[in-house]
Amino acid sequence: MFSNKFIQRFIKACQIVILTGDGLISKEETEAIVGNNNRFDEFSRIDYLKNNEDDFWKRFISLRKNYARLKPNLGHYALVDLENRYDDFALITTAIDGIHEKAGNKKLIELKGNIGRNICLSCGFRFSRQRRDDPPVPRCPECGGNVRPDVLLSDETMDKNILEKAQIASAECELFLTVCLENEPREVEALPLIAKANGAYLLEINNHETALSKDMNEVVVGNPAKLLTALVFLLEKI
Ligand SMILES: [Zn+2]
Repeated sequence: MFSNKFIQRFIKACQIVILTGDGLISKEETEAIVGNNNRFDEFSRIDYLKNNEDDFWKRFISLRKNYARLKPNLGHYALVDLENRYDDFALITTAIDGIHEKAGNKKLIELKGNIGRNICLSCGFRFSRQRRDDPPVPRCPECGGNVRPDVLLSDETMDKNILEKAQIASAECELFLTVCLENEPREVEALPLIAKANGAYLLEINNHETALSKDMNEVVVGNPAKLLTALVFLLEKI
C-alpha cells in the first residue's frame, strides 16, 4: 500500500504538510446533507452581500446550518493523529466546511476560509458562535461592526497572506501529502511543486489518479479515509 521508502521518510521527517481538498466526505454524502438547492455559488458573491444584505444572510445562514450537520469521519480523525505526532505540522485545506477544525486539527491553514465563521470588517474579530436571538444580519460581538462570512465568496480571489503562509510551509517541509485534491486553482496545485522543488517527498492519496499524480513520488489509490487510518495504524506499530 505505502512503500517502505515513504514509511521510513515519514518516521524520520520533522516537518510535514498535508493538503486536503473537500473530497474526504464524498460528494454524494455532502449533497445529501447540505442539499443541492440553494447552492453556495449561486448567491454567495460579494456584490450580492453588498447590495442585498438581508437576503444574503438569510440564505447564507440557512446554508451554514446545513454545513454544520456534516460530521468528521475516520479519515479526518487520522489527520488529527498525524498532527499530534509532529511539532512542525501544517494542514492546508481548500475545504470550506470547517470539518478539520471540528475533528480537532489546530495547525490549519484554510485557503478558502470557513463557512461557519464570520469576520468583523471593523476590528477583524473572528467568531463562529451563532445564537438563536442573533439579529438576521449578524454584527460583531466585540465592537458591533459589520461582519462578513470568513469564507471565500464566488467572485473573490484567495487571500494573499494565507496563500503565502501555505507556500512557506510547503517550501519548508520534508514530506508533502495531498489528500483528495483535484481541480483546484493553479496556485493551490502549485503547492506540492513548491515542496518538491525544495526537496520534499510527495505522496498523493485519492480514490483515483489525478492531473497531479504525474508529479508525485508516490500515488496510493483507494478509499482515502481508510488509507489515512491504515497509515496511522502502521506508524503506531513502528
Ligand atoms: Zn468588531
